[in-house]
Order: sequence, then C-alpha cells, then structure tokens
Amino acid sequence: MEIEKTAFESKAPDRGFTVKASYLKQPNDGDALIEIFRDGTKVREFLFPAYKIWNIAAHFSDIVDGELENDVYCARCHCRIAVTTAGRPDDPRSVRVPCKEILQ
Ligand SMILES: [Zn+2]
Repeated sequence: MEIEKTAFESKAPDRGFTVKASYLKQPNDGDALIEIFRDGTKVREFLFPAYKIWNIAAHFSDIVDGELENDVYCARCHCRIAVTTAGRPDDPRSVRVPCKEILQ
C-alpha cells in the first residue's frame, strides 16, 4: 500500500485531534488512508472508500466525539486516559487505571 498524495489535512486541531487523508496508489486507489492524530501522535488509521473521504472532513467533530467517548474517565480526579485497540477479537474489553487522587 503506497500513498499517492495527501487529499486533505486538518488545518486546526479539534480538541487536540487532527486528521490526514491520503489517496493511495493502484491497486489500492479505491480506498484512502485516514490517519487520526491526537496531540500529534497517531491514534488510529483506517481505510475508507476514496470517493467518500470528504465525509470524514465534514464529520470530523463526530469522530472526535467518538474518540473522546472511548476515553476512560475518572469522575473523582478528572483524569482522562485514551484507550485505543485495533478491533481484533482478542483485544481487551476493559481497562483499570489507578485514581490519581487516591494514589496521592
Ligand atoms: Zn481518579
């Protein structure tokens, strides 16, 4: 899978998230590579039908909402931890993080 050229890139971060969409060279040119970054670190990448990638730009704030929803959030110390998985069947389904307030 080789990148042909960048289709678009976020100009300004949305709550720390940016997106980059790239067209791919043949034979993968039916798809585009979508990369999601959080504070400059890649947190997710996936293929998306190339002719629909502008939906990603139009609905990027929904994507960010979804990413933030996946965060593990502590109501006590307001610590927020991002968790990402690749969607494999053996991926963890739960995570436990020590509370910063209780640890102090
Ligand atoms: Zn906590």
